[in-house]
Amino acid sequence: MIEMRNVSKVYPNGTKGLNQINLTIDKGEFVAIVGLSGAGKSTLLRSMNRLHDITEGDILIDGKSITKASGKPLRKIRRDIGMIFQSFNLVKRTTVLRNVLAGRVGYHSTLRTVLGLFPKKDIDLAFQALDRVNIVEKAYSRADELSGGQQQRVAIARVLAQEAKYILADEPVASLDPLTTTQVMDDLKRINLEFDITTIVNLHFVDLARQYATRIIGLRAGEVVFDGPVSEATDER
Ligand code: ADP
Ligand code: ADP
Repeated sequence: MIEMRNVSKVYPNGTKGLNQINLTIDKGEFVAIVGLSGAGKSTLLRSMNRLHDITEGDILIDGKSITKASGKPLRKIRRDIGMIFQSFNLVKRTTVLRNVLAGRVGYHSTLRTVLGLFPKKDIDLAFQALDRVNIVEKAYSRADELSGGQQQRVAIARVLAQEAKYILADEPVASLDPLTTTQVMDDLKRINLEFDITTIVNLHFVDLARQYATRIIGLRAGEVVFDGPVSEATDER
């Protein structure tokens, strides 16, 4: 469960990113965050994983405050949270397999992972993850040889190998064509249902949100202006 309590985020230059957000997201939900560019979708997602600090309030992940955690406890909370970005965020010049193994880094000492020494269990998990998203045959290809859709599926495999309980996806299909968009959204949905992974996806388009999510949260100027089941979401944003 993710709980945001009175969360506000003001950027160093004074821009308000989020204003007094209160949200609870339960295990297994598939939530779409929608809103125009600049509404605060990305700020919301980045706050949940503490990619940046919030200015006010608290965020609890399974009852533990990520806002106050540091060091080992923070790393442990983060292990449960997989991130997916619009730009895939893969290490381009290395193999797909190594990129997926990056999902295991949080489970080992830094030295081991810097040297690239992963136990067999991790290699197995990585291959299983690649199989889940149907690109196991690309394991030894360089990441930047893959198409955009394939790269995003590698990013999904990385989250699976991480054995994350949460997926935070920031505009995961914004740079993909319609067919690939469907494939990536289908993968996310399938994983959500199969593993009960709580999934929160920032989306620019409400129709995609309607098609895949069970709950839609609408943001405008850093505030929640809609929060409800898909059936209640109208075309207004
Ligand atoms: P969205 O993801 O919905 O497009 P963002 O969360 O990126 O919205 O942005 C919310 C607000 O915060 C916008 O006004 C944006 O300009 C501002 N913002 C985002 N990132 C920064 C930053 N690093 N520094 C200053 N302002 C920012
Ligand atoms: P490099 O460090 O240059 O990637 P390696 O010889 O360590 O070279 O690895 C070659 C490829 O084999 C990499 O893609 C790596 O991820 C993969 N690999 C490394 N260890 C194993 C293993 N035990 N089983 C399967 N693949 C592995």
